[in-house]
Amino acid sequence: MSEALDGTVALVTGASSGIGAATARRLAREGASVALVARRGDRLAEVARAVEAEGGTASAIVADITTRAGATDAVDRAVAAFGRLDTVVNNAGAMLVGPFADAPEGEWERMVDINVLGLLYVTKAALPHLIEAAGREPRRTADVVNISSSAGRVARPGTAVYNLTKFGVNGFTEALRQEMQPLRVRVSVVEPGNVDTELTSHTREELRAGVEAQTGSIERLKPADIADAVAYVVTSARRVAVNEVFVRAADQS
Ligand code: NDP
Repeated sequence: MSEALDGTVALVTGASSGIGAATARRLAREGASVALVARRGDRLAEVARAVEAEGGTASAIVADITTRAGATDAVDRAVAAFGRLDTVVNNAGAMLVGPFADAPEGEWERMVDINVLGLLYVTKAALPHLIEAAGREPRRTADVVNISSSAGRVARPGTAVYNLTKFGVNGFTEALRQEMQPLRVRVSVVEPGNVDTELTSHTREELRAGVEAQTGSIERLKPADIADAVAYVVTSARRVAVNEVFVRAADQS
């Protein structure tokens, strides 16, 4: 059976867990060959096996994308593996919560490095390939999907620097969308609400209970719910540009 993304290649950053792993599996089910990018090779191998067990094709690419060289090399390896690149999902990210003034040295840098710089480096390296893919097959299009957050739309105490990075992702997405529009590379943002993943596990131990208490009573989204949103964006017909998708948990205020 022919699927919407047959013959295309998708690169997903942060594919070793959570939303990235679910998105890679979903795009593979739509027919894309998937390049799985993250640092934990064992977890990437598990996701690759899951993709293959469902009849898909995957390549695990171990990379730290917080350096320009690491990000460029990851994109190059994806193109070397599959010969083209049609879709990039900039999903890798970190959230380290806590009051701004109390943050230990290094927390802001970790978020800025992965949520902002990693996304920029991967996008820059991927764009020539995406432009080529969009031009080579005029009946298709190419996509960049940036995973932002409800924290890219609503700021709260305790997430100031995370808010800074995700508001930044939203602004960057809209500007790049306008730059890429004549070239038929669609640029979109997906803003998840509260999703049940490993994201909060990186928060300092003494603050983790408070974070859990804030969200513990609601039924969180599943990573597959966000994968569905990404699939909607990238499988939409060429005449359609889904610029932004904001998906909250139903119980989330
Ligand atoms: P996870 O912690 O499960 O996923 C984060 C992913 O980012 C991991 O696969 C991790 O892989 C990867 N990553 C982190 N640093 C690097 C790096 N330097 N180089 C390459 N990959 C890296 O959490 P989620 O799935 O929840 O997060 C995915 C995205 O969704 C993030 O951008 C997050 O901000 C966003 N989001 C999540 C929400 C939630 O409630 N869970 C809500 C809103 C947005 P590895 O450690 O193997 O490198």
